[in-house]
Amino acid sequence: MAANVRLLENRWDDGYAAGLDEPGKLLYRSNLLGADKRITNYGGGNTSAKVMETDPLTGGKVKVLWVKGSGGDVGTIKLDGFATLYQDKLESLKSIYKGVEDEDRMVGFLPHCTFNLNGRAASIDTPLHGFVPFTHVDHMHPDAIIAIAASKNSKELTQQIFGEEIGWLPWRRPGFQLGLDLEAFVKANPNAKGVVLESHGLFTWANDAKACYELTLEIINKAIVWFAEKTEGKTIFGGAVTQSLPVAERRAIAARLMPEIRGRIGREERKLGHFDDQDAVLEFVNSRDLRPLGALGTSCPDHFLRTKIRPLIVDFDPAKPDVDAIVASLDKALEDYRADYARYYNDCKHDNSPAMRDANPVIFLVPGVGLLSFARDKATARIASEFYVNAINVMRGASTVSEYQGLPEQEAFDIEYWLLEEA
Ligand SMILES: [Zn+2]
Repeated sequence: MAANVRLLENRWDDGYAAGLDEPGKLLYRSNLLGADKRITNYGGGNTSAKVMETDPLTGGKVKVLWVKGSGGDVGTIKLDGFATLYQDKLESLKSIYKGVEDEDRMVGFLPHCTFNLNGRAASIDTPLHGFVPFTHVDHMHPDAIIAIAASKNSKELTQQIFGEEIGWLPWRRPGFQLGLDLEAFVKANPNAKGVVLESHGLFTWANDAKACYELTLEIINKAIVWFAEKTEGKTIFGGAVTQSLPVAERRAIAARLMPEIRGRIGREERKLGHFDDQDAVLEFVNSRDLRPLGALGTSCPDHFLRTKIRPLIVDFDPAKPDVDAIVASLDKALEDYRADYARYYNDCKHDNSPAMRDANPVIFLVPGVGLLSFARDKATARIASEFYVNAINVMRGASTVSEYQGLPEQEAFDIEYWLLEEA
């Protein structure tokens, strides 16, 4: 095994779990999974269990889908963060579904399936869980799996790493049709334990809560080990073309840039900033492939809303550190960024799309210095930078073993503006 591989640890405590009912075990598993950001990014992914409950209407037993609802994070979710739906009502929606053009209409039917007056809204991922014919389903966004999913030959890589154990489905926006695709996959491949979704993430399933948790860890660990072996000794991101400045200089430049950027992007909405210069960020901002990879955009759907598809890459040579020149160039760089964002919006919008959101960049990358991120509050700015670090990890893996592939703009737009509506 390659050196320095840090595997995910199994943290399941049988003694603790023995005292839990099925929703309690689902909650326990979710919190364990969400506690490690290598398993899923903040707010990303969801978990579910199909549980027999007493129907308040009839007193009889009925199968209920417990699935993480809209919003929240699996790491900190509580029981009230799960939506609950009658499994048979959810299944019955298949009889009124008219095909992929009809997907958005189906979302409106989910509240009709609510069990026990639960006010937690069901998310667009609900059919993905409901239609997999296993009791427990995990959907995670691990960097190591998304790196496979965002590789040009992701289907071959998935087969090479996992064999028949894990299947592969081509990119499709989460929704009713993807739920049906998953169900069809499981029926055609009864021995498969999960699938990699292209440009997206991982699904795994089992009929026992602990087995599902352990399977999810096992599959991610397999990918972590595979990447460690495949990338060991390889040139990453085309190699370094600039060198990091000493830490004190990096911080001083970030501190100087912070108010200059805030003043320019915070005219309509006040913005706060966050600075990150961890090694993974510096390796990327100093690399030859910074601009071409940055331009391809992030890949996992969750990233678009948090980071926008693309960062703004600041023109700066740390060998001749002229910060006044950066400041002088900011107006033009921002104007170009906003013009490109407006072009993207206009190229991709539909008749019923929400209005264009703030066109300013969220992520600023500075060679030799690091990453600055901006949002309406400090926590959101920090989370945006965490998400971009996820994207860097994904691009690092994919571009080293294959060719990294972002999502087509139209797909990214449909996700960004769909999630915007949901939020
Ligand atoms: Zn997802």
